Amino acid sequence: MKFSSKVTSITPSTTLAITAKAKELKAQGHDVIGLGAGEPDFNTPSYIIEASYKSMVEGHTKYTPAGGLPELKNVIIEKFKNDQHIEYSPEEIIVTNGAKHSLALLFQTILQEDDEVIIPSPYWVSYPEQVKIAGGKPVFVEGKEENEFKVTKEQLEKVVTNKTRALIVNSPSNPTGVMYEKDELKEIGQFCLDNDLLIVSDEIYEKLIYGGKNHISIAEVSEEIKNNTIIINGVSKSHSMTGWRIGYTAGHAEIIKKMTTLASHTTSNPAVMAQHGTIAAYQQEDGSVEKMRQSFEERLHKVLPELESIPGFKCVKPQGAFYLFPNVKEAVQTGGFASTDEWVTALLEEEKVAVVPGSGFGSPDNIRLSYATDLDSFLEAVNRIRQFVQRKSS
Ligand code: PMP
Ligand code: GLU
Repeated sequence: MKFSSKVTSITPSTTLAITAKAKELKAQGHDVIGLGAGEPDFNTPSYIIEASYKSMVEGHTKYTPAGGLPELKNVIIEKFKNDQHIEYSPEEIIVTNGAKHSLALLFQTILQEDDEVIIPSPYWVSYPEQVKIAGGKPVFVEGKEENEFKVTKEQLEKVVTNKTRALIVNSPSNPTGVMYEKDELKEIGQFCLDNDLLIVSDEIYEKLIYGGKNHISIAEVSEEIKNNTIIINGVSKSHSMTGWRIGYTAGHAEIIKKMTTLASHTTSNPAVMAQHGTIAAYQQEDGSVEKMRQSFEERLHKVLPELESIPGFKCVKPQGAFYLFPNVKEAVQTGGFASTDEWVTALLEEEKVAVVPGSGFGSPDNIRLSYATDLDSFLEAVNRIRQFVQRKSS
């Protein structure tokens, strides 16, 4: 069988693979605790479900424009005005089948063969693969643990070439939960302007921020930077709507137009009932988003000290999202494992705890645990990990 170079150059999503493996073991009757999936454990708030149902009963069950319902675009424009204090017109917005789809359309729109995209590591698993699918080349810059996994202008200067087209910014970050400060965003934004790079700002964890901090979009730093930025966002994480598949992109009208053309020949519109649910999600907000955020913050306070108390685990404190990304190098070595991947496989087999190896995020000494799971299960998982580490090192 012959396959395209597009599919042979990419690997399956590690996050989705681990989640599927944990579900498979569970279905076989094993007592598995899955900390792999990056999705909130709450059901979608009922006002959203009810609004979506009502829209279908009222007859909204047909195609919409490929780039999304005009009413939804207006709601998204309002959201940007209120939350980021930035203005967009409907021509600068596209609604897609999840933020992942937004990113896929974007890279296929802006990249020519061999164009480079700078991806700070640790990175979300799909960025490099999506760049490759679009014919581009991912160029990694390592965010050092001692600098809270953040990259600096000096590091970026070393990798930029005349082929570099864009830089990805993901704040708060999956998998580290780390956030860039305003002055850091300003410096990165200026670097991109100086080097004529587009800024791809993935803001999907915007609503999940802790410690009283506020989200800052790189696009709100200055008008000039905004004009060079393409924002990716969606309701998957903020409104616990992962299965609804609604994301969106805001940016230059010409880019949005081309992305919409691509969507019109591939997916057409995102599901109409999910679009109506999203209109309600933003317009009829009933406090659910904040309640979920508070719940994640409470869990973070409880789970982080537990995790850090495992011998050989060191963890940078996250400021957002719902992941912990400890460095487990010492535990892996003391346990006699050749790699973190092997350690993770043994943990799943022996203790029935599913976590994601850091290799998928470009950081092979770390593992990612999602605390978007109930607290008791998380604490039980930590106990099992502790037992595993102690057993392997004795
Ligand atoms: N960006 C990041 C950083 C993510 O973690 C995810 C995972 N859900 C996505 C984008 C994609 O989100 P969606 O489910 O809306 O496709
Ligand atoms: N983004 C989530 C994660 O990192 C969901 C899985 C995926 O889409 O890769 O776990």
